[in-house]
Amino acid sequence: NRRILLASRPHGEPTADNFRLETTDIPQPATGQVLLRTVYLSLDPYMRGRMSDAPSYAPPVEIGQVMVGGTVSRVVTSQHPDFKPGDWVLGYDGWQDYALSDGNGLHNLGAQQTQPSRLLGVLGMPGFTAYMGLLDIGRPQPGETLVVAAASGAVGSVVGQVARLKGCRVVGVAGGAEKCRYVVEELGFDACVDHRAADFAEQLAAACPQGIDIYYENVGGAVFDAVMPLLNARARIPVCGIIAHYNATGLPDGPDRLPMLQGLILRKRIRMQGFIIFDDYGSEYGDFLQQMGEWVGQGKIKFREDMVDGLENAPQALIGLLQGKNFGKLVIRVADE
Ligand code: NDP
Repeated sequence: NRRILLASRPHGEPTADNFRLETTDIPQPATGQVLLRTVYLSLDPYMRGRMSDAPSYAPPVEIGQVMVGGTVSRVVTSQHPDFKPGDWVLGYDGWQDYALSDGNGLHNLGAQQTQPSRLLGVLGMPGFTAYMGLLDIGRPQPGETLVVAAASGAVGSVVGQVARLKGCRVVGVAGGAEKCRYVVEELGFDACVDHRAADFAEQLAAACPQGIDIYYENVGGAVFDAVMPLLNARARIPVCGIIAHYNATGLPDGPDRLPMLQGLILRKRIRMQGFIIFDDYGSEYGDFLQQMGEWVGQGKIKFREDMVDGLENAPQALIGLLQGKNFGKLVIRVADE
């Protein structure tokens, strides 16, 4: 049984030294417990926050603890009445081959599943985040222009496609020509701009001739700088994430631009609202799953997984996620189905 622990807290970008792989015996379930074999492990940007002990909405992983993470697993042995060997389960069992559970927070998905890794992506936490942030805070109206960055990723890809279904003009922002091509040609966005281009701000302005009504914030940084002057009166900004800043060790240098931002919010009557998906919307997950399952089944929402083989490769994959190396929802295949 391999487990990956947090060995030390990163300063800036995480490195391989911040993680430690250890091998233990496979645990045995007591009465009321199940033994789970991890098949898929989700890697997500929030994990960078858990590696740090800065104040957050959730407690940090302690040094020497197993890294946390969403998992799709199979029941190996069960001493729990609700689970049988062979059942698929959705849980939060972290970076390890095997885990014990008392069933708390564990969702039984039954013995038959097609592509269960989708429950970590388009049909899981990231898809749900995209859906609620867009619909509840973004409130898309037909004919409006929406901009979303990390557009080929787990959240951004769903934001843009749902906004298209709601009748918006959708402009993506992504890193590199290949991701941009995918976003337009496969996902059906109206345009996509490469944030690494020297003239990124001009390209974004050209792609948004009517300004921006909804900016779904996934990254912050230079993308937000380019978005600000394009915002229309009564624009909405669901603040979902600011991944460009997750490795920052302090505030950036330069003049204090807070009065400028507050002035813009005031004059343009902009609404900016943050949210934490399961804290704020947990009770809506069932309705989301029903709707998204239908759209995915009908081919109206497409998704792409970036599947990395081997638990031992999780640290490097998480480091890469924060540098834009993933292309699609990042998932570790820990074991064969
Ligand atoms: P993605 O699959 O989109 O992967 C992260 C992507 O972020 C990278 O591939 C890269 O895409 C982009 N990125 C990284 N650094 C930068 C940078 N400096 N500037 C611009 N883009 C960058 O991740 P998710 O879809 O899982 O997450 C997207 C966002 O949603 C994150 O900010 C995350 O924290 C947030 N989130 C928030 C939740 C909530 O409850 N509020 C829940 C889930 C996610 P590219 O190469 O295209 O730039």
